[in-house]
Amino acid sequence: MTVRVRIAPSPTGNLHIGTARTAVFNWLYARHEGGKFIIRIEDTDLARSRPEYTQNIKDGLAWLGLHWDEGPYFQSERLHLYKQAVQTLLDQGYAYRCYTTEEELNELRESQKARNQAPRYDNRHRNLTPEQEKAFEAEGRQPVIRFKIDDTREIMWNDHIRGLLTWKGSDLGGDMVIARASSREDLGQPLYNLAVVVDDMDMQISHVIRGEDHIANTAKQILLYEALGGTVPQFAHTPLILNESGQKLSKRDNVTAISDFYKMGFVPEAMANYMTLLGWTPPDSTEELFTLEEAAKTFTLDRVSKAAAKFDWSKLDWINSQYIHKMEPARLLEMLVPFWEDAGYQVDLENNRPWLEQVTALIAPSLTRLTEAVEQTQMFFQDKVELNADAQAQLQQDGVKAVITSVCEGVKEHNQLSEEDAKQLVKQVTKEHGVKKGLVMKSLRAALTGDVKGHDLMQSWLLLNQKELDQPRLEAALSQV
Ligand code: GLU
Repeated sequence: MTVRVRIAPSPTGNLHIGTARTAVFNWLYARHEGGKFIIRIEDTDLARSRPEYTQNIKDGLAWLGLHWDEGPYFQSERLHLYKQAVQTLLDQGYAYRCYTTEEELNELRESQKARNQAPRYDNRHRNLTPEQEKAFEAEGRQPVIRFKIDDTREIMWNDHIRGLLTWKGSDLGGDMVIARASSREDLGQPLYNLAVVVDDMDMQISHVIRGEDHIANTAKQILLYEALGGTVPQFAHTPLILNESGQKLSKRDNVTAISDFYKMGFVPEAMANYMTLLGWTPPDSTEELFTLEEAAKTFTLDRVSKAAAKFDWSKLDWINSQYIHKMEPARLLEMLVPFWEDAGYQVDLENNRPWLEQVTALIAPSLTRLTEAVEQTQMFFQDKVELNADAQAQLQQDGVKAVITSVCEGVKEHNQLSEEDAKQLVKQVTKEHGVKKGLVMKSLRAALTGDVKGHDLMQSWLLLNQKELDQPRLEAALSQV
């Protein structure tokens, strides 16, 4: 069997972390099995679907490295296929026109509630005569199309993650609507369950791997496959992702879209790695850092947990830092540029690349998220630095004025400082003024960076020197002591 899997997002919002994680599992499964990974955009809800969400979804999947083999297919371009299927179901007696109004359905629900019964459609129009249909139409009612659900049926499937699942036909809410209300001549807008089944059949999907919130739909869909004469695919329902307080991760958690994680400074390899661990355990469970390609080698659905996965920010941060720390400076630089530009820094990558790469290499070991680079490199991109209270206090110490004056003189003597020049200069000034090296270094740091702690001082100084920022800062500091 050729494995063909799909991710089928609805473009009614940005790419959600839950959908992205399901996409990761689909991608891994396809790669592990040498199969195909397909994207289908489920945009039949015209009122809520937007092209910018489709773009966000495609960008998010591509950013994560989840490249697709086919698609995206758009359901909005395939309506004729769904209508054909609805017509077939009507013709073969699996479906019928139902004229019950919203009001009547509400009344039904209310009376069921009053009797403590679960709400369900009572199949009242299952066997209308052509005359009865005509009479309803004469009243101006427009029918929906309902698919017959046999209450006595037991629907079973062996879920690759959850094991044997069984649903009673009587628990599916009565005959289900598969197409919205419309005139008799034009079949109405087909609904989700119908469209999914038609597409999964047409696209020869072998395994449907999707969120566990679709389990009840699966039971309904199996009945549709049977009626349409399709082969029922295998199913695997992935566990939910919970927030740190154990509730379903939702919009209220603020960061639910993959693009939010990008903005927060997570790198794609780390996100993909972390999402793989949201529900899946590698055979060597001590192994936590791997690329998607590496995970694909060992990925099987039986190692996906049934239990909900808890979103753990500190773990994601740790994984992110690991990827940042081992990344080539050239690549890390490319990733930092948009954050710097957003902060208004004049980056000028084209003319500044070697210097920017050195700045990147300097700060890389202390980054957990890319966003932190903005603050950590501010002093390299701004003409002046503000001295914080500690830096000011440092510069008020005895002897500092003379020390900074001498360093400033020394800097003027060099066109560009080498590391050796800088070391010599510190040594010479220390000796000349009979002070401790620590005093020279701390004061230099205060004057150059505006702080008393930070990245390697010598490297920072040399980088500032290359941009001729050191001497003016030393002079500015002198004017304050
Ligand atoms: N459009 C559905 C969703 O976004 C897809 C469900 C499925 O994979 O069948 O939840």
